[in-house]
Amino acid sequence: MPLGTERNRRESRVARVAFIGLGNMGGGMAANLAKAGHEVRAFDLSADALARAEAKGCTRAASPAEALADADAVITMLPAGRHVAEVYRASVFAAAPKSALLIDCSTIDVATARTVAGEAGAAGYTMVDAPVSGGIAAADGGTLTFMVGGSDEGFERARPFLEQMGKAVIHAGAAGTGQAAKICNNMLLGATMAATCEAFVLAQKLGLDLQTFYDISSKASGQSWSMTTYCPVPGVGPETPADRNYEGGFAAALMLKDLKLAMEAAREAGAYTPMGGEAEELFQRFVDRGGATRDFSALIKMIDDSWEAPDETKT
Ligand code: NAD
Repeated sequence: MPLGTERNRRESRVARVAFIGLGNMGGGMAANLAKAGHEVRAFDLSADALARAEAKGCTRAASPAEALADADAVITMLPAGRHVAEVYRASVFAAAPKSALLIDCSTIDVATARTVAGEAGAAGYTMVDAPVSGGIAAADGGTLTFMVGGSDEGFERARPFLEQMGKAVIHAGAAGTGQAAKICNNMLLGATMAATCEAFVLAQKLGLDLQTFYDISSKASGQSWSMTTYCPVPGVGPETPADRNYEGGFAAALMLKDLKLAMEAAREAGAYTPMGGEAEELFQRFVDRGGATRDFSALIKMIDDSWEAPDETKT
């Protein structure tokens, strides 16, 4: 739901929100909460991130404890599971009131999400995992999709906050299922993008015009989001990062991170995921060859053997 709609105004009272992790994603998300009228107390290890958050209406906290004191809700947007476990164990459980709702929006491994949620419950808190789909533009624009793991009560309490940062908020199930949904979705995305890249490269080698192949396949059974919304070929389909030399978009390093989380979860769950494993290997090779910051659809350049690493990342 877009920011500032009647429903948002009705459902979410003005609250004190402790926001920890104001990076590329958290910065925009916290700014949208401040814009909606919440008192957002921001803490990050980076002074630059804090200065940007302050410029967008948040209050800078000098320590996690200062951000957490008297908070109605705590939102974290951190790089990985170890950061989340550390922040909750060292700071949140020590300084946030028991009445505060805890919402972790980071993308992390399912096992850590479940462990930290269990520790939160044992300490008397309600906690949900609420990872997001959508990149920096969606975080800035308040159009993220949230997939939420936790109790019905936790979901209902989190929903008004999440609606002010996103366009869709979906309850996935019990604690950890938000993370499970996120990594299953992104495993599918990684595999379909790799397959789409391969199909275009083969089509070209077989003498097909790529626009013609798109016109056929986008209306046939090979169609997927990777083809029709995010086509890896410049000049074909809607405008995508391919048309901007694969700048911006969803960095290959983040795709690789999510594939590694999916493979770790598959090992723990005993699930056979050969396509996900293959996608992980391909994106690992692409990142090793200097593609980390490029949009993940640039994988097609490695598959058609025309990839040249940007100068700054050449080894
Ligand atoms: P980022 O690195 O830009 O931001 C993370 C922030 O956390 C940094 O500002 C860092 O200083 C801060 N931080 C780290 N440890 C901290 C600690 N102990 N205390 C306080 N602050 C700490 O990362 P990002 O791109 O904003 O991504 C955040 C999360 O969102 C990740 O889990 C990522 O996988 C996920 N995600 C990112 C995108 C994207 O397009 N960037 C999209 C979907 C999901």
